[in-house]
Formats: sequence, C-alpha cells, structure tokens
Amino acid sequence: MKNKLLVISGPSGVGKGTLVKALKDRRKDVTESISCTTRAPREGETHGKEYFFLKREEFLQRIAENDFLEYDEHFGNYYGTPKSFVLETLQKKSVILEIDVVGALNTKKAIPESVLIMIVPPSVDELKRRLIGRGTETDEAIENRLSRLDYELSQQNEYDFVVVNDDLERALQEIENILDAQ
Ligand code: ADP
Ligand code: 5GP
Repeated sequence: MKNKLLVISGPSGVGKGTLVKALKDRRKDVTESISCTTRAPREGETHGKEYFFLKREEFLQRIAENDFLEYDEHFGNYYGTPKSFVLETLQKKSVILEIDVVGALNTKKAIPESVLIMIVPPSVDELKRRLIGRGTETDEAIENRLSRLDYELSQQNEYDFVVVNDDLERALQEIENILDAQ
C-alpha cells in the first residue's frame, strides 16, 4: 500500500497529541514528523522529541535555505515542518504532521496527495475541561488558544476528513481506517 502523508489539525487540547502517540504505538508503518519551533520547551519536553527547539536566527536561516515544507508563526513563535525529513521518510512509512490549519492548507498546496484530518471535540465545554485538565498552560495562554477555536472549527470544510475525538479508541479506529483506505 502506498505511504500517506496524514496532516492532523484541531484546536489545542482536543487530543491530537494523545491520538498521534497511540497511533504510533500501535502502527510500526507510521511515524511522526518532528517540527522545528522557536518557542521555549515546556517542562518535560526534550530537543528532538516533541520539537527541535531552534533559536530565532537559526529558524530564519533555515527559511532562507528553503528547508521547510511549510512554516507559520503562532503566539509570537515560529513553527515549521522539515522538508527533507518528510520526503525521505515517505519512501519507507506513512508520515503524520500535527500542525495548525494554515500549515495544513499550505501542505496540501505543496503536496496535493496529502490527507487532511481535522480532530474536533464532542463539545466546547469538554474541550475547555481537557485544556485546563492538561495543566500545562497559564490562564492567559488558555484564553489565547480558545480564542482561535471558532476560526479553526470554521475551516472543517477544507479538510478531507473530520474526526470527533469523543471516545479515544473509536476516534483512533476511524483514523486507522483512513490510513488503510486505498
Ligand atoms: P492536543 O495535542 O490536541 O493539544 P492533548 O493530546 O494534549 O491535546 O490532550 C489534551 C487533554 O485531553 C489531555 O489531558 C488528554 O489526556 C485528554 N484527552 C485526549 N483525548 C481524550 C478523550 N478522547 N477523552 C478524554 N480526554 C482526552
Ligand atoms: P504548541 O506550542 O502547543 O506545541 O503548538 C502551537 C501550535 O503550533 C499548534 O496549533 C500546532 O499545531 C502548531 N504547530 C506545531 N508544529 C507546527 C508546524 O510544523 N507548522 C505549523 N504551521 N504549525 C505547527
């Protein structure tokens, strides 16, 4: 079966990271692209694991070298997908990008066969509960992230698939079905 480039987006706290981790644990034919960012690592994050944490100058240099499949700025920091890693890995495995809406649409422009999946919460209240329950953000950062919610949800029509992350196992199965479809 042909390897796929799956692009997963959705509001902060909806469960993207949880779903992608579960998918990688279960499927040896799937790997995740690690993005570069200029934001500071959160407690417990390691360089080369969650992200490659770069200085702003390093990031700008890599933009100049056309080293990103796509990049964008959020919350005052740059985030980008390393192009060579994605193209090389696709020769061997399916690749998942966990990126925002603008990044997803730019990826589709660069690679039209990519499959865009938006993860949505069962309700806005449940999303707030997950975001607060994760305990990684300040109140201000939570507000900042929630302020993007309407915009993100309004972009669902641009996606190939919309998956509701109600029950984790059910949502995971739906993503696996997309991965295995011809
Ligand atoms: P994101 O990567 O989209 O920001 P996370 O994967 O960090 O979101 O998930 C946010 C929180 O929601 C985490 O505490 C996670 O354990 C929880 N969570 C994820 N999926 C579900 C689900 N289906 N039901 C209940 N809680 C969930
Ligand atoms: P966080 O700081 O919570 O890890 O991520 C903030 C935002 O950056 C999220 O919306 C996430 O999807 C987005 N993001 C992460 N990596 C990339 C990337 O490589 N490119 C783009 N465009 N957005 C990204």
